[in-house]
Amino acid sequence: MDKLIITVALTGNVPTKALNPNLPVTAEEIAADVRRAADAGAVLFHVHARDAEARPTLDVAVYKESVRRIRAVAPEVIVQLSTGARAGKEWEDRAAPVRLLPEMASFTTGSFNMPGVIYENPPKFLLFLAEAFETTGVKPEIEVFEAGNITNALFLRDKGLLSAPLHFDLVLGVPGAMAGTVRNLQFLVDSIPAGSTWSVAGIGKAQIPLAAAAIAIGGHVRIGLEDHLYLPDGQLASNLALVEKVVRIARELGRDLASPDEARALLSLAPGARDRIAANLAH
Ligand code: ZN
Repeated sequence: MDKLIITVALTGNVPTKALNPNLPVTAEEIAADVRRAADAGAVLFHVHARDAEARPTLDVAVYKESVRRIRAVAPEVIVQLSTGARAGKEWEDRAAPVRLLPEMASFTTGSFNMPGVIYENPPKFLLFLAEAFETTGVKPEIEVFEAGNITNALFLRDKGLLSAPLHFDLVLGVPGAMAGTVRNLQFLVDSIPAGSTWSVAGIGKAQIPLAAAAIAIGGHVRIGLEDHLYLPDGQLASNLALVEKVVRIARELGRDLASPDEARALLSLAPGARDRIAANLAH
């Protein structure tokens, strides 16, 4: 079995400090959480940006500040920027994090209902964003909330806009999309092309049970306060506590952890991709 890649979704767009004071929202807090989680065994960090009022934003200046601070304290980790829609709807704004040239960025290949809103990713937008990934060479993490998202990703691959091997994050348990069950996880795993890599992001109470399932069957794991604010025993979580829990489960199941460079190899990240963002951070 491949070594385990642990991804941390540190902040997200929805959680607030009022709900969990451990939530990192400023660039400084995010960088400090990255360092702690990396020391505990995490290697990949899914980063959202918040403005001065802690509201979701796609402002590249805020992303730059986060990446700058992360690189200062944890230069070895893989940074993945979010292109999620809750921070803005303009197509170019959503592509802006990709154009900063991070090693990875997220890419949700379809629309569906979320609590209170439609997560809109219409067909023409998927072509637009896929083109941004293809022209920049940034590795997409394809966010799959339901099985049609895989169909759309394969359509884009067949058009030459996404390059194999693909990496999927199977997000299960969002109210309005697929439920967070092991059966659904196995179905999605069976539905992606051979040679792909995948992680699971269990939302809400599905977080740790689905992480354990993924560790058992050879997938990778995303955890973090973006996905759930609590530990399984009902205590408020922190990103560090979630990483520590997953590391303990992996150890019990005999799964070794991937180092950042081992994760880069497993994810087929281009050599040198880590430092391509440096010039963009300078100005
Ligand atoms: Zn996210």
